[in-house]
Amino acid sequence: MGPFGRVRVPEATFTAMADKKTPKKNDPVTHVIKRCPYCQAYLKPNVTRCDSCNRRIGPPDRHGTAKKPVDWRAYLSAVFAVVVFCAALYWFFLK
Ligand SMILES: [Zn+2]
Repeated sequence: MGPFGRVRVPEATFTAMADKKTPKKNDPVTHVIKRCPYCQAYLKPNVTRCDSCNRRIGPPDRHGTAKKPVDWRAYLSAVFAVVVFCAALYWFFLK
């Protein structure tokens, strides 16, 4: 090992300097497409249903991934199942 063997600058330093010299401009890709949160397919930002997996999706967030809309049907069916279960128990023990 020579006298300058330890003077090697890490490559990450040059990368950080390069990033400072060329600051990122507004990212055009972010708002041109959005990604499906279920199957990661690339979609147009105005679609409300995924072309690939046919699920409902919301508007894209700042990361470009579509938000998952609240599935009210599944939520209500779960609540309904609990209510029916409690009613069945109530009916079973009071009869
Ligand atoms: Zn999808």
